[in-house]
Amino acid sequence: MRALPEFTLHRPDSLAEAVALGGAAGTRLLAGGTDLLPNLRRGLEQPQALVDLSQLGELRLLEQAADGSLAIGAGVTLATLASDPLVARTLPALAEAARAVAANTHRTSATLGGNLCQDTRCVFYNQSEWWRATNGYCLKRNGTRCHVAPQGERCHAAFCSDIAPVLLVAGAEVQLASASGTRTLPLAQLYRDDGAAHLALQPGELLVRVRIPPAVVGERIAFAKTRVRGGVDFPLASAAVALRLHEGRIASLRAALSGTNSLPLLIEGTAALEGCTVDEASAKTLRQLVQKQVQPMRSTVTPPQYRREAAGVLAGRLLRSLALQDG
Ligand SMILES: Cc1cc2nc3c(=O)[nH]c(=O)nc-3n(C[C@H](O)[C@H](O)[C@H](O)COP(=O)(O)OP(=O)(O)OC[C@H]3O[C@@H](n4cnc5c(N)ncnc54)[C@H](O)[C@@H]3O)c2cc1C
Ligand code: SF4
Repeated sequence: MRALPEFTLHRPDSLAEAVALGGAAGTRLLAGGTDLLPNLRRGLEQPQALVDLSQLGELRLLEQAADGSLAIGAGVTLATLASDPLVARTLPALAEAARAVAANTHRTSATLGGNLCQDTRCVFYNQSEWWRATNGYCLKRNGTRCHVAPQGERCHAAFCSDIAPVLLVAGAEVQLASASGTRTLPLAQLYRDDGAAHLALQPGELLVRVRIPPAVVGERIAFAKTRVRGGVDFPLASAAVALRLHEGRIASLRAALSGTNSLPLLIEGTAALEGCTVDEASAKTLRQLVQKQVQPMRSTVTPPQYRREAAGVLAGRLLRSLALQDG
């Protein structure tokens, strides 16, 4: 990797100033920098200015409201999510997912907002400038052809947030701010199915906080990830499952996946399992639902079929382990 390119660094101390600065052309928001800065050093982007969000107190909020919902500022670090007693008590799967991101040193600066807004990844893209120049630029940047799906017209780079699946099954919403005001969206609506433009953010729009609704009584959420290197690695697949049992049968079931598509997926069709017991048959149905809906492509060195299988297996195992916890 080469040295960082030249840019102007803004360090606003109010949200209003940050969104005003962030809306300017050629400007990028900077949180912990663990995703953005390596990309800049690879020459994947050349912004004229960065807006450092580290001084914004609003982004560091972490509190539980009277109704039991959890508000977590975009600037809360993954190290905090991994160790905070309130998170451990209310949504332990979120702490577990945070612990699964990168390595310790990354997590001390990496933030929740940066994790949810991180760029998509592809083995033909996350390379040095000379590698891409030698092997041919692709349509995500500077090129005209996707090396993964040359017949297609879109980028299939994978979105690899380990945090997103847990928040999706927990029904989280995101609060966004821009120069024209604030809006709140279900987390799923933050994403688009396009590896080259996967965020539905307006230019300069900033993720302020995530709101997680109060847990439904009796519902449990679990997270699991598979990766090549256990110490530090992006997910081949990350999965979260939310399960509530009533009298030994499935009363509600949701599953979400990351690492396989250009956006995190909330799996469709899980309601069909309501009323079933958790056994090999229901775990197989969930596995098949996942395997039909994920779309891993040749964007990593691990074959797509392996990632598809692994995604389904993770979800099926999570379902069974949640049922076992319920006794
Ligand atoms: C070696 C290595 C391993 C990694 N492994 C993993 C992994 O296993 N799992 C995983 O999920 N990630 C992984 N990552 C990616 C990254 O470290 C994490 O996703 C991290 O949480 C990003 O947060 P950040 O604060 O550093 O983001 P930054 O790098 O500061 O920002 C990332 C992107 O989000 C945007 N952004 C940041 N904050 C906001 C906001 N509040 N509103 C709008 N946009 C915003 C930035 O403009 C930028 O485009 C890895 C990175 C490295 C270098
Ligand atoms: S999926 Fe295709 S267009 Fe997207 S980064 Fe990879 S090679 Fe480039």
